[in-house]
Amino acid sequence: MNSKSTILIVEDSPAVGLLFKSYLEKLGYSEIHTCVTGGAAISTFNDLMSQSILPIVFLDFMLPDMDARSILTQMLEIRPDVKVILETATEKDDAGIKELIQLGVYQYLEKPIRFESLKDIVETIEKEQSFFVKESEQEQMLQEAVKISEEKTIDHVNFILKSTNQISLNKIMDILGFEDDFVGTYLKELEQDGKIIKLDEKKEIGCNQCNSVKTSQIFFCPNCKSSNFKLGKLIEHYDCGNITEENTYENDQCPNCKKEIKALGVDYRIMKNHYICNDCKDFFPEISIEYLCLKCENRFDLDDARWKTSTNYKVVSI
Ligand SMILES: [Zn+2]
Ligand SMILES: [Zn+2]
Ligand SMILES: [Zn+2]
Repeated sequence: MNSKSTILIVEDSPAVGLLFKSYLEKLGYSEIHTCVTGGAAISTFNDLMSQSILPIVFLDFMLPDMDARSILTQMLEIRPDVKVILETATEKDDAGIKELIQLGVYQYLEKPIRFESLKDIVETIEKEQSFFVKESEQEQMLQEAVKISEEKTIDHVNFILKSTNQISLNKIMDILGFEDDFVGTYLKELEQDGKIIKLDEKKEIGCNQCNSVKTSQIFFCPNCKSSNFKLGKLIEHYDCGNITEENTYENDQCPNCKKEIKALGVDYRIMKNHYICNDCKDFFPEISIEYLCLKCENRFDLDDARWKTSTNYKVVSI
């Protein structure tokens, strides 16, 4: 495959034009157009543009019909990224040359043309162009990767929504494990399609360390911190002060003093709905609660929670 650029030489001297051509052919260029006037150059340039070919242009500073400035300006108007190399015998700091460089001449080639300097210039251009191609390929790969990751995210969001009737935006983000504007856009689409309904804002308990709302309550014995407890009934025997579970009073006999319990409210009472610890046997009317962050495993009290508010969604059908 010939990946070399097309060349457009704008040169009124046929001798110089031929020399140019031979140099460029030596460098491996085969698509070379030579024009001897500015008018022909513009029309050839337009022709190439219509075939989506962007040539490297070698432009003579002195032309019989048009000045280089006007040719350069017209080409730049059509393609601002065209590489125009100005050939001239005039000094580089000449005001006319300086103006053209400021207008967008890419390089400056001194006349008489030397093979080495021409080679340097075209090699630089080719290197830049191949870099540009690689860059645009990378861009494409990146876009591809973004597309794939977005598709994966959509699948994951759908999966999360299917698993629930209501869910907050904070919770969705926490489960996904990242924050992305794209998720918000996708939810908006679902909302427009009537697949989810936006409800009021929801306040949720957030981890005071990492802000996650993926938390779970932990219930435990206030005495020994064990979670091995049950809800049950206790009997207090007034005579001896024994308080133990109802089932320890076998045949109405106090397990402590072995006396018979006789009349409710007289010599004993029943304490309903008490939490009884299976480990330390202690009992409590209320159990202790802590929050466990499922993301960073931080444990915290309700008083220390960081409350988080976000939009709540009702899931209709996904
Ligand atoms: Zn956390
Ligand atoms: Zn007793
Ligand atoms: Zn305990």
